[in-house]
Amino acid sequence: MKVTVAKTAGYCFGVERAVDIVFRETELHPESGVYTFGPIIHNEEVVESLCRRGVRVLGSLKEAGELSGGTMIIRSCGIPESAQHFLESQQDEHGRPKFKIIDATCPFVKKIHRIVREKSAEGYQILVIGDRTHPEVEGIAGWSETPVWTAESEEEAEGIVLPEGKKLCIVAQTTFNYKKFEDLVEIIEKKRYDILVVNTICNATQERQAEAARLAGQSDAMIVIGGKQSSNTGKLFEISKKECENTYYIQTLGDLDFGKMKSFRSVGITAGASTPYNIIKEVQTSMSEENFEQLLEESLKTIHNGEVVEGVIIGVKEDEIVLNIGYKADGIITRSEYTNTPNVDLRTLVKEGETMTAKVLKVNDGEGQVLLTYKKLIAEKGNKRLEEAFNNKEVLRAKVAAVLGGGLSVVVEESRVFIPASLVSDTYERDLEKYKDQEIEFVISEFNPKRRRIIGDRKQLIIAKKKEMAEALFARINIGDVVEGTVKNVTEFGVFIDLGGADGLLHISEMSWGRVENPKKVFKPGDVVKAFIKDIQGEKIALSMKFPDQNPWKDAETKFAKGNEVTGRVARMTDFGAFVELEPGVDALLHVSQIAREHVEKPSDVLKIGQQITAKIVDFNGEDRKISLSIKALLASEEPAAEE
Ligand code: SF4
Repeated sequence: MKVTVAKTAGYCFGVERAVDIVFRETELHPESGVYTFGPIIHNEEVVESLCRRGVRVLGSLKEAGELSGGTMIIRSCGIPESAQHFLESQQDEHGRPKFKIIDATCPFVKKIHRIVREKSAEGYQILVIGDRTHPEVEGIAGWSETPVWTAESEEEAEGIVLPEGKKLCIVAQTTFNYKKFEDLVEIIEKKRYDILVVNTICNATQERQAEAARLAGQSDAMIVIGGKQSSNTGKLFEISKKECENTYYIQTLGDLDFGKMKSFRSVGITAGASTPYNIIKEVQTSMSEENFEQLLEESLKTIHNGEVVEGVIIGVKEDEIVLNIGYKADGIITRSEYTNTPNVDLRTLVKEGETMTAKVLKVNDGEGQVLLTYKKLIAEKGNKRLEEAFNNKEVLRAKVAAVLGGGLSVVVEESRVFIPASLVSDTYERDLEKYKDQEIEFVISEFNPKRRRIIGDRKQLIIAKKKEMAEALFARINIGDVVEGTVKNVTEFGVFIDLGGADGLLHISEMSWGRVENPKKVFKPGDVVKAFIKDIQGEKIALSMKFPDQNPWKDAETKFAKGNEVTGRVARMTDFGAFVELEPGVDALLHVSQIAREHVEKPSDVLKIGQQITAKIVDFNGEDRKISLSIKALLASEEPAAEE
């Protein structure tokens, strides 16, 4: 493994100076109290080691006020002017200054204090580009005569509005990202203010950030060392992460995950301005081949069969996944242990670098690798999910994975659920194949994973839904309403029409004002039909298509008045006459004696079914809906004309 430590890693001038001051004071005056106002630098390790030498860190002015005296060292990132005055003004009972004050504020930060003080006195509005919660920025703000503004994002810069005629002075937190500073200044400059920009970003910071970016770009992994509170270390991490996905932020060697590091060929190391050299050295040394192996061995965990482990995918083939699980051997998940779906290409499902959990099947598969299963882990989770669904009677939705002899198989989170054919629908399903790959809803009606019986039920949902629809339908419909439905079943005596919740019967006699011989010739399943509700008896709905406004007998009295000449078709015949359909629903009798002038034995001797005839109406009885025809009478009335 190639390990490169950034030249700029670790203490900067300002931090080194501040830490040296504190060490020197503890050596020079071990007996008188040595205090730092705020942590001297942003590194817990260093602060703790100073505390072990007797240094006390003060968190507030109140604490300082309660002390009887000693050496007060002002932290490297500075404090507000008012706080400094307070410390300087403290006196003992003899009226002498209570503290020997040593200002360890970095000279670069001190320079910003001066600029802010001067420019605010000249009437400039001060804007600090940086993190307003950082002690350095709080300190800077405390040297302005007027309240300062802060901004650290583009949105905040966009939102700045300066009163007419006001001048603006921009300074930066010393550790701010230089590129970002330029971007924010550009946004503000576009507003055409009278602006004075002073780039107060520390050179050491710029160089450190530029080197971190360069090194991260050339390395497989990057380690950034520094205190969690250290703003400049945070920025180094941010910058490195952009260039190198495998960037790790650690405070000390103890935070380093050696299992993760073992797969990298080149590692870069950088550190924040407050990170002591010995910590950097320790991390660097641990990376040397020998030490690394030993530390890796020590850091490796032990694992057991059945344990759930987390790992990073370090290799994927069509049929196998290799996981780094932080154990001395890598974990293997074969295709059949990943999923129940046959022949799936694992490369389409997972990617190198992703994290996943799996369950240990065998710590040693015989070839020194750990055999893992993802499928069983997920199935266990799936079983839990199904158990919950069973207990809560939850409606589940899943795709039909397979059509089996006796039912359907669906998979919920890698757990199989069987839906027997009898529970697929509320009616017998001859063809289950149509469900293949369909998403269906069901509930778990039996849950017994030990006996491998997890049974789904779709039927009860359909029945419940139909019941609900039926209730809604019956609440909605009334006799006389016109409804639309779909033909479900056609029989010889009528048609059953699905009205959405219940079926209505359209009897053969109600299909038309005319005569319907065979419903199958008129309707077929799936036809959409409009009818009106003739009657409702309990759950039975009688339908009719004999709409009153289409009743052919409505104007029959005029249309078929006695003496009118009419044309119709022979619909049926008996021995005593033929019935002639004048219009659908209006049949008239042509008596055998009225067919011709000469004697006719029976109508079928001279007429045929379907034959069109013209005759005269000789009788009309609207009440009984009877009409009599006569061809003979028609011939008689035509005769004189023929003779002429
Ligand atoms: S980073 Fe720069 S400004 Fe900050 S303490 Fe170090 S030298 Fe001073």
